[in-house]
Amino acid sequence: MDSLEAFAAAKLSEIDRRGLMRRILETDRVAPAVLYRQGKRYVSFSCNDYLNLTQDERVKTAAVEAVKRYGAGAGASRLITGDHPLLSQLEARLARFKETEDCVVFGSGYLANLGIIPALVGREDLILADALSHACIMAGSKLSDAHVHVFSHNDVNEVDEILTRDRGNYRNCLIVTDGVFGMDGDLAPVSDLAGLAQKHNAWLMTDDAHGLGVVGGGRGSTFATGKKMPVPLQMGTLSKSLASYGGYLCASSKVCDLMRNRARTVIFTTGIPPAAAGAALAALDIIETEPEYVRRPLERAALFCRLLNLGAPQSPVVPIILGTPSRALNASAKLAEAGFIVTAIRPPTVPEGTSRLRVAFSALHEEEDVRRLAELVRGCMSEEA
Ligand SMILES: *Cc1c(COP(=O)(O)O)cnc(C)c1O
Repeated sequence: MDSLEAFAAAKLSEIDRRGLMRRILETDRVAPAVLYRQGKRYVSFSCNDYLNLTQDERVKTAAVEAVKRYGAGAGASRLITGDHPLLSQLEARLARFKETEDCVVFGSGYLANLGIIPALVGREDLILADALSHACIMAGSKLSDAHVHVFSHNDVNEVDEILTRDRGNYRNCLIVTDGVFGMDGDLAPVSDLAGLAQKHNAWLMTDDAHGLGVVGGGRGSTFATGKKMPVPLQMGTLSKSLASYGGYLCASSKVCDLMRNRARTVIFTTGIPPAAAGAALAALDIIETEPEYVRRPLERAALFCRLLNLGAPQSPVVPIILGTPSRALNASAKLAEAGFIVTAIRPPTVPEGTSRLRVAFSALHEEEDVRRLAELVRGCMSEEA
């Protein structure tokens, strides 16, 4: 074997030994929350398509119309010739929805964080990041060369202590967190963090990938209390509730202009395809005009939690923590036999010892399926570790 093959084989056998081998499975998503794998039909509780808009006729038609009018791809970076008209429409709509002056759309949520964070902070600066923040927040932080302090999950006292002790040693400071934690389903203490940011002259950024379209009346965690909290940097994705692909930052005009000039993942990458912008615009129309529909994913999650005597959920994501990878994998396999996709989530996506089923509810899940799933999950929870 040459050294490359030997390297890959050794890595894989180590991954396998720890029960962490991952395989990409071909998945045919044919209807809201319904998919086929190897010819078998399943109801999915693992999609981030919380409003099931990837299959909505209005959203699909908007994507098709965008292709017909503007073509299949953007053709270049937005700074060259890739800035088709749907992008500025989408940015204006997102800014209005999030109550900010401006918005910049990126290629994906992951790319957004890789671009935003290094454009804001560098070697002389401090980043405070929640320990359960998404991998791309950590990756963007690393790229920035700033000093990164990872604080215990949602621990505002720790944030206050660190800032009181260390803030003076740095030029600027960014506090960054998921708004809704994608693997745990809880919300960040946005109001408290905003207060601490003001007290210590730090900048607060929330990543609302799992918040937009489902909490705060659809406007995300910044609006979880009913009115807008002072979060100057509201980042998120078009890829979950908005049923499309891409990322965004809603912020002031000056911050957005800075991104257009300095965020490397705006400058050195192609604009998102017209279809992606068209679909996101249509999804946004639905979110803005159908508040009852927007409440549904959380209602489904609440029913499930009531049936299992779990606390009331804060978002449509409910974790069932089982501990070891094998326990989570076995539970997931058992649910699959019964026709439900509930993917096991293992390290490094979640911390060691917290492998889990992650149950994600969506607007068009049938109540009947939620009840059956709850029964099955009850069985998985009581089984021996
Ligand atoms: C999914 C997710 C992302 C990545 O967004 P993509 O558009 O899929 O790249 C970023 N942050 C969080 C918190 C996410 O859950």
